[in-house]
Amino acid sequence: SARDGLGAYIAKPETYPPNVVVYHNADFVAIHDMFPKSSLHLLLLPREQTKTYLHPFDAFEDAEFLEKVKAEARKLRKLAAGELRRKYGKGSAQEQARQTALSTNPPPDELPQGRDWEQEVVVGVHAVPSMNHLHIHVISVDRYSDRLKHRKHYNSFSTPFFVPIDDFPLAEDDVRRDPTKEGYLKRDFTCWRCGRGFGNRFVELKQHLEQEFTEWKKL
Ligand code: 5GP
Ligand code: ZN
Repeated sequence: SARDGLGAYIAKPETYPPNVVVYHNADFVAIHDMFPKSSLHLLLLPREQTKTYLHPFDAFEDAEFLEKVKAEARKLRKLAAGELRRKYGKGSAQEQARQTALSTNPPPDELPQGRDWEQEVVVGVHAVPSMNHLHIHVISVDRYSDRLKHRKHYNSFSTPFFVPIDDFPLAEDDVRRDPTKEGYLKRDFTCWRCGRGFGNRFVELKQHLEQEFTEWKKL
């Protein structure tokens, strides 16, 4: 079924081009999400067969496995941050074009250290995954994408439905284990950046996300 779609990357990562499979090693495959919900959206797929069909909450009960996943996720997050820096950061083509437009002065030889792009990338899982194979989202915070088409798309990354990897192991009584957690997806919209509320007005939210994206990337 379509829910098994991530299995092929785990089985034969070497058959995909680099714009699909970012890298692979014995234990993990890193891919681009086919329907990205932000300007950069990657998935980390553990290849461990005894874990791949488990719910993430159960897979991460294994402390040794959890540490391995966290370490690999840190690697991928760094890589993602580098990608954002190339796309939007000081010294990027976009930034240089802007500087040239602003001033006739030549750019300084020493580029400033600049922004910590790792802060702009979050890592976590959905409380109720839709795809069967264990996967971890590594996603830029902007939530700016043509593929973000449904209200549940936004809320699945913007409410406690999204569980950061560093929150594991989850406490026994963690509210996110609650079976009614799908209610998070129906919550009123809140802008991830400024906190403004948008009720259930998705079109307005999308327009606002575009404005926030413009500000965020050039900050
Ligand atoms: P979930 O909601 O299960 O945590 O997220 C699954 C993710 O997998 C979604 O973001 C979705 O866009 C992505 N996805 C679904 N099918 C495919 C596929 O065949 N290939 C890739 N690369 N990503 C997929
Ligand atoms: Zn906002």
